[in-house]
Amino acid sequence: MAYTALYRKWRPQTFDDVSGQDHIVRTLRNQILTDHVGHAYLFCGTRGTGKTSVAKIFARAVNCEHPNNGSPCGECPSCRKIAAGNSLNVMEIDAASNNGVDDVREIRNQVQYPPSEGRYRVYIIDEVHMLSAGAFNALLKTLEEPPSYVIFILATTEVNRIPVTILSRCQRYDFHRISVQTITNRLTELCAAEKIDAEEAALRYIARVADGSMRDALSLLDQCAAFHFDEKLTYDNVLDELGAVDNSVFTRLLDELAAGDVRACLGELDRAIVQGRELTQMITDFIWYLRSVLLMKAGGPEMADMIGISTENARIVKKQADALPENVLMRYIRVLSELLGTMRLSSQKRVLAEIAMIRLTRPEMETNPDAVLERLEKLEKQMRELPQNLSALAGGLAAGGVPSPAASGNASADTPGPAGGGAAANRPKKVLLPRAEYEDLMEVRNNWRTIQGTVRQPGRAALAGTRVDPAGNGRLNIVFRDKTHYDIVSRSRGSEEGDVLRELSASVAELYQKKMEFTAEYQSDGSDQEIEYGISDEELREKIHMDVEVEDAPEDRQK
Ligand SMILES: [Zn+2]
Repeated sequence: MAYTALYRKWRPQTFDDVSGQDHIVRTLRNQILTDHVGHAYLFCGTRGTGKTSVAKIFARAVNCEHPNNGSPCGECPSCRKIAAGNSLNVMEIDAASNNGVDDVREIRNQVQYPPSEGRYRVYIIDEVHMLSAGAFNALLKTLEEPPSYVIFILATTEVNRIPVTILSRCQRYDFHRISVQTITNRLTELCAAEKIDAEEAALRYIARVADGSMRDALSLLDQCAAFHFDEKLTYDNVLDELGAVDNSVFTRLLDELAAGDVRACLGELDRAIVQGRELTQMITDFIWYLRSVLLMKAGGPEMADMIGISTENARIVKKQADALPENVLMRYIRVLSELLGTMRLSSQKRVLAEIAMIRLTRPEMETNPDAVLERLEKLEKQMRELPQNLSALAGGLAAGGVPSPAASGNASADTPGPAGGGAAANRPKKVLLPRAEYEDLMEVRNNWRTIQGTVRQPGRAALAGTRVDPAGNGRLNIVFRDKTHYDIVSRSRGSEEGDVLRELSASVAELYQKKMEFTAEYQSDGSDQEIEYGISDEELREKIHMDVEVEDAPEDRQK
């Protein structure tokens, strides 16, 4: 029995079957439903995105005797005849092999006669950009005065090679690359119908390799399924079969980049080239790998499935995700994406890739205007904020030495902490902390209930409903909403047994092996402005220990 390739067998038969081109399908369907069919269409887009399939559905739909919501019924004599290839109403012409004036003249002769049956004669001209200049001119004559029963559908992957005179006479439809998710869904559907047992990660990998082309995806699936006939198609099978990149190169490369080991990175590139790897593809794959690390960082281990990596790899990726800050990963991705852009146009791919590796290991070398501007802006901001922060810090230590714009009213005067959580509580603001301090804060915040539980009563009860803010110098400030609770804790201070704040320090020291001091502060209602904490990575900020960015308008600030 002859084997039909999956992409032929699963070519969409109705508009409902078309994946990922909803914008086009909707318009065409409406034209059929309202009987407003045009006479010249131009379908553009990369290969395998459904141009020919949609053209064929459209050709059958306009001739169908009882279309079903705009789609061909597939049952009527017209539909059957076209499907069997016996109809004179649908002509498919491959312009790549019929690109001369005579070929187009023949079309012109044919269109003089109305169809003997059915309503429309549809000419689907594939790869229309291949027509010669003379052929385009001949085609233009027909497009200028098309008989009412003729429809031209021109399909092309290179719309920029179509003469403007032709473009201006066509309704143009741009077919999008199909998303990985849409392709994966389609493959899943198809595997169920074909009884192909496949892991979701395997299908997702195929979808990714297909790079927006449904046809490629189906061909790749065909290839993998044939090779692993009668066994489950696993992610690892697919990797083997598609000769996909082994992730270990990227794991190593990322480690070496992070360690700033230029020599090792260049060695990695060299090995890859010696092994015959295509550099553009390698960088593309590396960007995908970095994306996986980034996603893993954002979403945790349950992302493994979504990223489409094996459990074994997920463990490794997770480890790298934990070790690298987000902004570093983002910078890697940015630099490598730029590299891809320049590499595509250059014959010196290797040199460019090497320079990028050096750039990645030497962040201070970045000289593109964006990076310089970014650094300049940061410096300026630091300069502006420097005196403010210093005085805020000093003011806090001297208990209210500096008038703070929003301090009127809600922060209690006997605040032991410096201008930390409460001072500008009514304003939306973001506070950047040195990394260590940020991590300590998050640790305590995340385990605050547990830590409270280690304190003796009545202190434990008094701590309920409190919040922890950073107060600089490794101290944390507990913010109370309840005056009575606050009083219990503040009165306990200095008492030999039952100093709540000291107990907390001791608990944290025991639980996390960290030395932290606690202060207490009472804030009445209306001051529950959420403060966002982030990590500051500048040394300067580490020295100041506190960096308040007020994110509202400057005129507000002067009030
Ligand atoms: Zn029909």
